[in-house]
Amino acid sequence: MPLLEVHPDSDFPIQNLPYGIFSTQANPNPRVGTRIGDFVVDLSLVDNENLFDKRYGFFADSSLNRFMSAGREVWREIRQRLMRLLGEEQASLKKEALIPVSEVQMHLPVEIGDYTDFYASREHATNVGIMFRGKENALMPNWLHLPVGYHGRASSLVLTGTDVVRPRGQVKPKDAPLEYTASRQLDFELEMGFFVGTGNELGEPISIDDAHEHIFGMVLLNDWSARDIQAWEYQPLGPFLAKNFSTSISPWVVTMDALEPFRVQGPKQDPAPLPYLASDSASGYDIHLEVTLQSAHMDKPQTISRSNMKYLYWSIEQMLAHHTITGCNMRPGDLCGTGTISGPTADSYGSLLELTWRGERPIQLPDGEERKFLQDGDTLTMKGYCQGDGYRIGFGEVTGKILPALK
Ligand code: MN
Repeated sequence: MPLLEVHPDSDFPIQNLPYGIFSTQANPNPRVGTRIGDFVVDLSLVDNENLFDKRYGFFADSSLNRFMSAGREVWREIRQRLMRLLGEEQASLKKEALIPVSEVQMHLPVEIGDYTDFYASREHATNVGIMFRGKENALMPNWLHLPVGYHGRASSLVLTGTDVVRPRGQVKPKDAPLEYTASRQLDFELEMGFFVGTGNELGEPISIDDAHEHIFGMVLLNDWSARDIQAWEYQPLGPFLAKNFSTSISPWVVTMDALEPFRVQGPKQDPAPLPYLASDSASGYDIHLEVTLQSAHMDKPQTISRSNMKYLYWSIEQMLAHHTITGCNMRPGDLCGTGTISGPTADSYGSLLELTWRGERPIQLPDGEERKFLQDGDTLTMKGYCQGDGYRIGFGEVTGKILPALK
């Protein structure tokens, strides 16, 4: 039976096979699935039917963590087996193992212990630097020597589709008194997130050459940001409440093996990084990214930015090597954000802060309104994909709607 027809524009052809956690009405236990076309494949059932080379057990878990900690060899053996099983051997699958995507509920894919956010786009760091410090001092003196980052908040990581309540906080407008108010400068940050698969022992850094083997896969990530809260609170220790109310991710974790054909050389790094960050291998990923905005009055979304992960100055391997160089231990399921991914042109910036240049150049919407920052009722969506020859490896989307601040 030719049940698995996948359209060339689908994000989920057989070359992708991402992993996620889903449940159904018939079986409300969250469990591991993969996605092909418009179907979710119940991997706990595949495992129970002994269709893998051996019994793994972890596909009945409600998170990917145990699978992630099994290591690259196991990830590869499962991927190879699934490609055969969903390809030439699909007749051996039970009908119940293939569930129409419309019948599943997705859940957060990973129990995320720690979350770190980087600041790895030179264009983004330069734009923000120009706005806040002027052209002469746009990049801080450390920026070209290390991937700058901060430790974020894991508890408020949410799945796509989760509404975002406008945060309240301290805001100190220029030439006006300090106030406690709903944020007036709510923004998004277009990012990718990568998940650590196998971790490292405390005291034993992950070397730049080994870093790739420790990374399980990637998701789309929206680092919702309250710019007015951020501007007042961030000195000298960096982002705090401006970032901790919500960070949204897409539900399907696309594996590094699926992304391998789309590795590209990143930007030239000058000055050369210190040896612990130096790597010869291609380090970027050619992932097309798009952001749309739809207000409560619009009947369809409008594209407000197109960017690409390949613009990032620092690679995810460099981020991981740097994160652990002190001996800091990473654990399976830890998440790192890349930082806002801005491209070189004004239509490829990854935040409203940059797209509207701090509100100086508002975005015009078809309903006659304009946007400097996000308004209540706005829905912000990010999509991403790699374009192959006749197929694409996609991430689906990460979306969220802004709700009014609590009274
Ligand atoms: Mn960020």
